[in-house]
Amino acid sequence: MNIKEKQAVEVVRDLLCDVCLDSTRFEGGSLRYGVLQAHWGSGSAHDGERYEVHLCERCFFQAVANLKQERRIQTMFGENDNDRLTDDFGVVVTDDFFRDGGSFDRYTVNPGSNDKID
Ligand SMILES: [Zn+2]
Repeated sequence: MNIKEKQAVEVVRDLLCDVCLDSTRFEGGSLRYGVLQAHWGSGSAHDGERYEVHLCERCFFQAVANLKQERRIQTMFGENDNDRLTDDFGVVVTDDFFRDGGSFDRYTVNPGSNDKID
């Protein structure tokens, strides 16, 4: 026997980009956004602080472009090949259309490096 009652459930109706304040909801109803997040631990200047910035696609890739530019500046006079900036800066997986891990992960040998498997 089912005993039923009505309960109020909170749902996310929309999610606004924290930079441009545009909705991240696309036609069809899905939310599409990127998240820049950090949880700073012991010893850091921001110990105990957590950050979460939601970005629409345009603002996310503008942020990536800004970080790539900063990387270029920081490594401008470096002589190490690891300082080279590639077009896939920040990309971990490609072809992950169904969130199943994708078909190609180029950075499994040494995550965070520019060592490619291909
Ligand atoms: Zn935005």
